[in-house]
Amino acid sequence: MPERYETVIGLEVHCQLATASKAFSPDSAAFTAEPNEHVDPVSLGHPGTLPVLNGRAVEFAAAIGLATHCRVAPESVMARKHYFYPDLPKGYQISQYDRPICEGGWVDVRLGDAVRRIRLTRIHLEEDAGRSIHDADPSATLLDYNRCGVPLVEIVTEPDLASPAEAAAFLRTIRQIVRYLGISDGNMEEGSLRCDANVSIRPAGSGRLGTKTEIKNLNSFRHVERAVEYEVARQRDLLDRGERVVQETRLWDDAAGVTRPMRSKEEAHDYRYFPDPDLPPVRIRPDRLEAIRASMPESAASRRERYVSDLGLPPYDADLLTEERETAEYFERALSFFEPPLAAPAKALSNVVMTQGLRRVGEFGGSFAAFPVDPERLAGLVRLRLDDAVSSTAAVALFDAMLDVGDAPADIAARLGLLQVSDASALVPVVDAVLEAHPAQVSQYRSGKTGVAGFLVGQVMKAFPGSADPRLVRRLVEDRLHSE
Ligand code: ADP
Ligand code: MG
Repeated sequence: MPERYETVIGLEVHCQLATASKAFSPDSAAFTAEPNEHVDPVSLGHPGTLPVLNGRAVEFAAAIGLATHCRVAPESVMARKHYFYPDLPKGYQISQYDRPICEGGWVDVRLGDAVRRIRLTRIHLEEDAGRSIHDADPSATLLDYNRCGVPLVEIVTEPDLASPAEAAAFLRTIRQIVRYLGISDGNMEEGSLRCDANVSIRPAGSGRLGTKTEIKNLNSFRHVERAVEYEVARQRDLLDRGERVVQETRLWDDAAGVTRPMRSKEEAHDYRYFPDPDLPPVRIRPDRLEAIRASMPESAASRRERYVSDLGLPPYDADLLTEERETAEYFERALSFFEPPLAAPAKALSNVVMTQGLRRVGEFGGSFAAFPVDPERLAGLVRLRLDDAVSSTAAVALFDAMLDVGDAPADIAARLGLLQVSDASALVPVVDAVLEAHPAQVSQYRSGKTGVAGFLVGQVMKAFPGSADPRLVRRLVEDRLHSE
């Protein structure tokens, strides 16, 4: 049965910027487990304090705008958004309203083999609120103002996402972009990345949007996917029963697996937005913007494409290698030690990074930035393998040994007896001896049973003291069998 409804989703993604200090005050913006460690009079909203905008936060917001193909406004305006909540001591949040720092733009989201281009409405700069803790004390709500005033960008999409999986993939892509740019750790457990999902359904093929609900504060990829799935099913049931979807804000209860109404939808005019008189307009000069653009690393998407088209790597490899910027940079630095053509070293390096590297990197802080096998030594190991100086099994042992010792790979391999002899002159006498000792197999081969060569190669490998390159041994054995 064809689907009668289609799903429409727009996301509002909040991403904490990894500045050292807060958006408008000098106290630390670092995540900490101890409540109320990072609170100064500005973040507490004391009377007489004045905000001073953190220039780094502006640069970070511009960088995400450039990375997502937005127009970055030469001048934008900070606005007060008024509401009362105990974790917002000023009684308003400093945000942006009608003149945000970034507008337009798009993000390409990969889902299996398909790529979907998701348009962005805007990205604006704002401050975070504190945190109300309802479950620590049975008789009171506790307040932690550490997060109060930490800079955020809010990324708002057009209603372009068409499934829960797409919504989660979009969020993953945003996480990857901000981590590549180094402007946020994108850590969902610590609340650095969270999103509100706007969800509606409409009859398939209809050009009009249905009534949406907004699910607030989703803080894991799984929650986004499950909450949207639930909400789509709930709305479908309502429409099937001839009822209507009420526009409202809902909360996801992960334990119960349901969304519940939180409040009816607020309107912009409820917030009494106006330009913050304490803050001048935010100006970014064109040369500053160009400097920001010039300092940005190559994106994951562009690297991925290059790895597939220029280096001939399988898309699977390209995905894994570009997942984190440190991994991609590690791989590329190691590759820089090779001369073109690069396809063979690229694949050999990729194999080692994907299997051995990613398996062990967790023991060293999870990033290749401080991995004990540096790119040059990794290249050395791969060169030994490509030259057949070590077997594939020996290469695995060598990599593990290189994690413990800082010496050159060839030295470690020699010390551990991992080098394969690929010097024909050392092997020929052993080949001759083996053929002499197995006259029956030699005549079988010569009468057409060529399969017996494998046996003879095995005998040579066994008889040779040390490890020999099996391909070379086979060539020597066959040469000898064909002569005479
Ligand atoms: P509001 O005024 O209710 O905040 P906005 O127009 O600002 O709504 O949109 C907020 C978010 O909701 C955006 O991400 C937008 O793409 C999304 N959105 C708007 N209308 C719909 C809809 N009918 N269904 C799903 N998402 C929607
Ligand atoms: Mg909104």
